[in-house]
Amino acid sequence: MKHELLIRLGVFIAVLIAMALWEAIAPRRARSFARAARWPANLGISILDSLVVRILLPLGAVSFANYCTAHQWGLLSAITLPKFVSVIVAFITLDLAIYLQHVMFHALPALWRIHRMHHTDLDFDVTTGVRFHPIEIVISMAIKLVTIAALGAPAAGVLLFEILLNSTSLFNHSNVAMASTADSVVRLLIVTPDMHRVHHSIVVRETNSNFGFNLSWWDRLLGTYRDQPAAGHLAMTIGIEDFRDACELKLLRMLIQPWRGATGEYPING
Ligand SMILES: [Zn+2]
Ligand SMILES: [Zn+2]
Repeated sequence: MKHELLIRLGVFIAVLIAMALWEAIAPRRARSFARAARWPANLGISILDSLVVRILLPLGAVSFANYCTAHQWGLLSAITLPKFVSVIVAFITLDLAIYLQHVMFHALPALWRIHRMHHTDLDFDVTTGVRFHPIEIVISMAIKLVTIAALGAPAAGVLLFEILLNSTSLFNHSNVAMASTADSVVRLLIVTPDMHRVHHSIVVRETNSNFGFNLSWWDRLLGTYRDQPAAGHLAMTIGIEDFRDACELKLLRMLIQPWRGATGEYPING
């Protein structure tokens, strides 16, 4: 798909700006740190992640999906379905795969060390949504490619998934105030900021809940859903017990966090 990169980048920048404006106009919580203390590193690691993916997979996941369907790989190649049904099946399956991957990153101590960098942000805002360690991004990409090949996912379904996952991740990490009625309606389908903020709580049982990034169904169906943080959204503490010094918000410190300190109490089997 010729314009995949441009479409994805355009939507990403538009949603990033829209959410940043919403945060400025109607914030949910007071900031603990100025934007200047966190945003350069959070946006910097996002650029680094994009470069790593471009180097390892220059043609992108959508081109890989085209290759798979051209060679009749995967389950969807073996059955005849209307195109739009295949697109929806691919979208929902990829979303479930990303949910399960997120649970796995919290379950296995070695993977938690990589993923915990997402949780060491000491505020929760739109830039937290792009704050992932490059190793997590590479593992995530591999899982996505295996899922695409096994399913024979159509390119349109993969493109839709990539665009929506990026957009909903920015949305559900945003520090935005939403009316509680609007939150409960949106939350029936999509993970809202109040729902995902519970996952960024310092309390272990709250960190190990609400793993969804996009559709809110998986947490409800599979028993990992938690409605609200015990301390309330305004009083709850964001982050984990470790790496609470402001110097840990710098890019180089974030990159070496997987190899520092004890694994701690957070992994599910810990
Ligand atoms: Zn997590
Ligand atoms: Zn998150």
